[in-house]
Amino acid sequence: MNHDHSIKKFYLIGNPVKHSLSPVMQNIFLNYYEIQGKYEALLVEPSDLAGVVKQLKQGGALGANITVPFKESIIPHLDVLSDDARLIGSVNALRFHDGLAEGFNTDAFGFQKSLSFPIAGDKIVLLGAGGAARGILTACCSLGCHEVAIYNRTIHRARKLIDDFQGKFPHVHLKTIQLNDERLAMEILDAKMIVNATSVGMKSHSEDSSPLKAEFLHKDLIVYDIIYNPPETKLIQLAKAKGCCYMNGLTMLIHQGLESLKIWIGDDLPFAESLIRQVEKTLNEELLSQ
Ligand code: NAP
Repeated sequence: MNHDHSIKKFYLIGNPVKHSLSPVMQNIFLNYYEIQGKYEALLVEPSDLAGVVKQLKQGGALGANITVPFKESIIPHLDVLSDDARLIGSVNALRFHDGLAEGFNTDAFGFQKSLSFPIAGDKIVLLGAGGAARGILTACCSLGCHEVAIYNRTIHRARKLIDDFQGKFPHVHLKTIQLNDERLAMEILDAKMIVNATSVGMKSHSEDSSPLKAEFLHKDLIVYDIIYNPPETKLIQLAKAKGCCYMNGLTMLIHQGLESLKIWIGDDLPFAESLIRQVEKTLNEELLSQ
């Protein structure tokens, strides 16, 4: 990492990072807002995480995004947490300021902004209990969902989510059940939306897999897969075949990314719908060319 101080430096920290569209997207934002800066992906081994945070903090970087699998494990290496990051228990954006590494969460905001329909009073089925799931659970509870049923491969992680969140959102009925348990089909029957916040279906991870069986889906269900690469995951293919409404994670990615940039720059960058459309178009082209 070489730091030219005239250019503002931003990074993506994760493993893998090759699949990520964040560098293309953030460089479009920097260009659009005429910010002299560069955003690069860093492939980081878990054992190097603390060292990388220290290096960026001391090296003049302005900010970073955190992706799989570090959104929770990064927390002990940070000096300060925002209220949202503390509430959610997951960090996807860092700001380096006054010699401190500060952790933020913009995933919940990005998810909330991406929804074009209300979910107040509804039941949501959430697949996953990692960093992204924590943000989505917070957004669903804040938006007034009546019930969230959480399914995860590792059941104790889903239970930990309930332990961490039920007290903060006493008006929402939170419950957990093991992934692909037969009860999952029953839970999905009266849900408005299912959100996949697991890595199952992600490129370079498990592209040909779906986190649940086709027979669990029904046509009145909204299927939201927050994975954006590939743009059409196995789960989305199953949802399409069933006649469900569906969406992928591209709009969430764009909104969480723009919010991250606002935090780093410390400025209320004017929102432009035309920028969002331009980024969506470029990222879709990028995905098709991969
Ligand atoms: P994470 O903290 O590493 O959590 C991964 C989750 O996936 C855990 O619930 C994990 O279950 C589950 N999982 C992984 N491999 C699995 C498998 N083979 N079978 C069943 N479950 C499995 O990752 P994250 O940061 O939450 O990200 C999760 C996904 O969301 C990624 O695909 C990421 O790209 C996507 N994402 C998208 C956006 C967006 O803006 N669109 C934002 C954030 C994340 P266990 O607990 O059992 O390990």
